[in-house]
Amino acid sequence: MVSAAEARSLIVDSITPVSAEPCSLQECGGRVLAVDVLAPHDVPLFDNSGMDGFALRADDIRKATRESPVELKLLAEAPAGRSPDVRLRPGTAIRIMTGAPVPEGADSVVEQEQTEIRNSSVMIHTAPAVGRNIRRRGEDIQAGSVVLRKGTRLNPGAIGVLASIGIERVAVYRRPSVAVLTTGTELIGVSQIPGPGQIRNSNAYSLTSLLRQHNAAPVDLGIASDSCSELRVSIRKALANDAVITSGGVSVGSYDLVLDALKTEGVEIHFWKVNIKPGMPMAFGIKTTDDGRKIPVFALPGNPVSSMVTFLQFVRPGLEKLSGAPKPEPPLRIRAVLGEDIRKKDRKRHFVRGIARNENERIVVGTTGSQSSGVLTSMAAANCFIILPEEAGDLKAGDPVEIELL
Ligand code: AMP
Ligand code: MG
Repeated sequence: MVSAAEARSLIVDSITPVSAEPCSLQECGGRVLAVDVLAPHDVPLFDNSGMDGFALRADDIRKATRESPVELKLLAEAPAGRSPDVRLRPGTAIRIMTGAPVPEGADSVVEQEQTEIRNSSVMIHTAPAVGRNIRRRGEDIQAGSVVLRKGTRLNPGAIGVLASIGIERVAVYRRPSVAVLTTGTELIGVSQIPGPGQIRNSNAYSLTSLLRQHNAAPVDLGIASDSCSELRVSIRKALANDAVITSGGVSVGSYDLVLDALKTEGVEIHFWKVNIKPGMPMAFGIKTTDDGRKIPVFALPGNPVSSMVTFLQFVRPGLEKLSGAPKPEPPLRIRAVLGEDIRKKDRKRHFVRGIARNENERIVVGTTGSQSSGVLTSMAAANCFIILPEEAGDLKAGDPVEIELL
């Protein structure tokens, strides 16, 4: 048995990223950069106004106040999208719009709200510091600098940055294909009517949905029954992907054959059983293919909550590494106050499904009710995990706890 922290680092340390490919800006959201991106030019490309107002020389209006405004002659108008054709002269102002290039001779912009137009002049009600409301050339990005580093996951902000420097295609790691193999003789498809002892295969849906949410491409391999030969056939198919997730059959029951089948198919098991609740029987291994690729295999327990918890705790950092993030960060933990008592008698790390809410200045968190690993509605209702560390015992309402937002 390994600890949650050991399991995490065993996974992250043994996974290497998939290959990279060029990708268009429209398609690369959520993918990870495979190269450092250098800025071909400054952003902004020219000094420009941060406000609608008046470009002027701060020196001309050093004494301006609301009570005794200073009058400047209006010289011209500078809209966004073209360069100003006039040069500012002392004692004058140029009406300027947000984003318009700052005319030569001007050193600050006074926002319209601090001014009043009078025929062909403008009354200025405030004395600005030099540079006020001017966005300087290169203030955001300098030409030649590394704007985004290899290993950065491209969020909408990063996509916008790439667009702003004219990059239409960029090298990103492939979206990993991840096989999902659900195992259990009792399982039937969603549209089927359960016969005696049968249940619907919900894990295939929760796991593929989690994979999509985490920028992977799920490949649903359907259900394998608890037979070693059937499992082996499906595992062989699964190993054609970049990673494999199995669900069920990794505990100690007589029909828990997944570990044996994985080993027979050449998967080297790195650990089995993690000191957590729920999800204890999880296993992880690596299959080295004939052409030298290393395929991570996550064997998750079949209980619906356990499979989701182990996905979020262990598959997620593995997927991060697989998709090119160099050092997956553990999820952000936030301090909260417990809204109810929780009993804990063992030395396992617990991931309690919780509902956190803001209450005045604090975050208060309660449980979703029954924490049985079969109660899948607890995952549907939860917005966080309450983390109970190994050494924790019973907790009382009002105690501080750490939560991970879902
Ligand atoms: P196992 O890990 O195979 O021992 O399964 C533990 C429990 O989870 C059993 O009650 C199974 O019926 C249930 N279970 C296993 N696989 C699934 C699945 N794909 N969807 C829903 N429940 C499952
Ligand atoms: Mg089973």
